[in-house]
Amino acid sequence: MSVRTRADLDQLPAYVAGKSVPGAIKLASNEVSGGPLPSVQETITNAGAEVHRYPDIAVGRLTEVLAERFGVDTDRVAIGCGSVALCQQIVQATCQGAEDEVLFAWRSFEAYPIITRIAGATPVTVPVTGEHALDLDAMRAAITPHTRVVFVCTPNNPTGTVLHRAELERFLDAVPSETVVVLDEAYFEFVTDPDAPDGMDLLRGRDNVVSMRTFSKAYGLAGARVGYAVGPAKIIEAIRKVCIPFSVNALAQAAALASLDAQDELTARCAEVAEERGRVRSTLLDLGFDVAESQANFVWLPLGDTAQAFNDHCMANKVVVRTFAGDGVRVTIGKPDENDAFLAAAKSFRP
Ligand SMILES: *Cc1c(COP(=O)(O)O)cnc(C)c1O
Repeated sequence: MSVRTRADLDQLPAYVAGKSVPGAIKLASNEVSGGPLPSVQETITNAGAEVHRYPDIAVGRLTEVLAERFGVDTDRVAIGCGSVALCQQIVQATCQGAEDEVLFAWRSFEAYPIITRIAGATPVTVPVTGEHALDLDAMRAAITPHTRVVFVCTPNNPTGTVLHRAELERFLDAVPSETVVVLDEAYFEFVTDPDAPDGMDLLRGRDNVVSMRTFSKAYGLAGARVGYAVGPAKIIEAIRKVCIPFSVNALAQAAALASLDAQDELTARCAEVAEERGRVRSTLLDLGFDVAESQANFVWLPLGDTAQAFNDHCMANKVVVRTFAGDGVRVTIGKPDENDAFLAAAKSFRP
């Protein structure tokens, strides 16, 4: 007899991480190429000397600093082992069985369906529009009395599109008050569109809206694993209850705190990414590619059936991109020379 694991795990899709290929340029995982912010590296080194001690279980200092930054009480901030852990915690804290539904756009962040299945809940997906943007009217129409959580990813991974303030406010006003809306703002720091909302403004006065952000992307701490949620105290309390004790490690806590002190470095980095994003997209458009309008640190090429061939061509040119076969290719914005290598590969692609 073999051990008994959950039968439904056989159907669980595996998370596909961007590949790291020695000697190749990695533009596959939406990491920044520049590393942690320059002034943060020493903090991480110093914190290494203390790793024989357990971290602060309550992540107290980081919680205080974030609460102050966003003008909320500390009971409205939760820290997680990356914001993907917080996404999982909110589903665990709201869903109990297959009758509970978790709603999100598709294509969107590929962790959502996995997290939903792990919790034993049912994923419900709504296709993105022809412009690769979230279809909020269709998402509103897909909400049922069983919908526990709606993930609204803006800018959307992998399409890069951002929602505008008015349409998102209209959507939030229409969602039933017992359904939690998660604004997944993992790429918030890269947004330059003045019509894009700040989730921290939208959640004010709403009892069912949470914003989630991360230190993994713009702050360059993907390997440290730290993200945060800001929302109503009742939701934050539930998120905290299902947290694994000590999951936010000591290096991550120290690095995140130091990163919040390096606002100028962050601003400069994000401005560079936004400029390169514009250059990469306009070059691709000139080459005849269809490219979604992006507000994140990546671009989306809806290549459909030629996505895999494009992927293989990039790989042959030592550039690693993230491909969703039959659908499209997501390419992270790197340093200018890395982007040049990618654009050269794109230019020589013959479908
Ligand atoms: C990268 C990402 C996250 C969070 O990543 P962590 O490393 O777990 O903080 C969350 N949502 C989206 C859409 C992402 O792309």
